[in-house]
Amino acid sequence: MRILVFGTYILPITSPPIEDGGVLIEDGIIQKVGQRSELDQEEADLVVDGNLIVMPGLVNTHTHAAMVGFRGLADDLPLMEWLEKHIWPMEREMVTPTFIRHGVKLAMMEMIRGGTTTFADMYFFQRDAAQVVDRMGMRAVLAEGVIDFPAPANPDPESQLAYTESFIREWLNHPLIIPAVGPHAPYSTSPDVYRRAHALSERYGVPLLTHVVETQAEIQQIQERYGKTPVEHLANLGVLDERTVAAHMVWVTEKDMDLVEQYRIGIAHCPESNLKLASGVAPVPAYLRRGLKVGLATDGATSNNDLDMVGEMRTAALLHKGHQQDPTVATAEQVLWMATLGGAQVLGLSDRIGSLEPGKEADLITLDLDAAHLTPIYNPISHVVYAAKASDVRDVFVRGNPLLLDGEFQTLDPEEVITTFRQEVEAPIRQKAGQ
Ligand SMILES: [Zn+2]
Repeated sequence: MRILVFGTYILPITSPPIEDGGVLIEDGIIQKVGQRSELDQEEADLVVDGNLIVMPGLVNTHTHAAMVGFRGLADDLPLMEWLEKHIWPMEREMVTPTFIRHGVKLAMMEMIRGGTTTFADMYFFQRDAAQVVDRMGMRAVLAEGVIDFPAPANPDPESQLAYTESFIREWLNHPLIIPAVGPHAPYSTSPDVYRRAHALSERYGVPLLTHVVETQAEIQQIQERYGKTPVEHLANLGVLDERTVAAHMVWVTEKDMDLVEQYRIGIAHCPESNLKLASGVAPVPAYLRRGLKVGLATDGATSNNDLDMVGEMRTAALLHKGHQQDPTVATAEQVLWMATLGGAQVLGLSDRIGSLEPGKEADLITLDLDAAHLTPIYNPISHVVYAAKASDVRDVFVRGNPLLLDGEFQTLDPEEVITTFRQEVEAPIRQKAGQ
């Protein structure tokens, strides 16, 4: 299948914007990126055209997709109270394969609508999630959660690790789904379990997703238990390498940053979740100055409360300027890079996605520029970060497959997704919560 996507601006990310350009896709792979005049003689089965920005799909480097089921259930609480009194008890009772399937579907509907083409997920029953993701055609890194406590899918780390290994074996080498392992965090996952999770990541060459230094309380806890910072602790366990995706990384020392650099670990920056839980502000400008791998992420819908990567870009850009009292940090270019190619690097996918270049897989989105809030336009990158909304996304392709065309979903029925979710997930939770 040959597809041509023309737009007023093409944002390749690795090179300057192209005015009045196009992208030629053949069998899911980008063949050409250039001026309209270089491409308009090409034959195509599908042509997308309009007053559009054409850019790589957004990469959400850290989320818990099915947690949309708990969206807005418990807000305005500190992290540990929120987790221990609200989220974990609810998860133990309510998270079933049915919850996962309908939750992940709803989450994907929101993500596709907002231009996300890849998401990295840490949660449970990933075997069920993978089947739904496969059907909807998104790209995802799916890490089965491993934690010292009884998890919804499996009662102990032993069975969680066994489940993870068989899940990895089943989905390894899928074109769009990357199975992975997800030890929860240094405060909730013992050294032995971390080591065994890392051994799986090493054996199968799959990512290891984890939460690291989300709060200052975590530093105290890890200091008391191990006499180290959380990053030093994980480095000491030998579980950090280029396959590590560390979410949050809010409170770090210079030495921690040296370790991040040394082990080439990826950072999933979650500005809105960190703001909502008042966890602090990650030193992203310093990460970027050091040339570390940094991606952007929403985290789960319980701590955000949406999965909107367009909004997340704006928050990231504004947050660091305000926090550093310096409007020159976290520029629109840097933030757009984090949301695309930076995120792809974090997930080990930058040879396949993250930019519009010949040879890469065609994960690509368009934004409709015919809107008051996007008029006039002098700098398309500025608009993507500071003015655009998720609802401006018009077309979404993953590996050349259309998931959204002219605002219409191609691989899901939105009414059916919402109606079923309300019946199968919202109604039982409402009952359980006594609402
Ligand atoms: Zn998280």
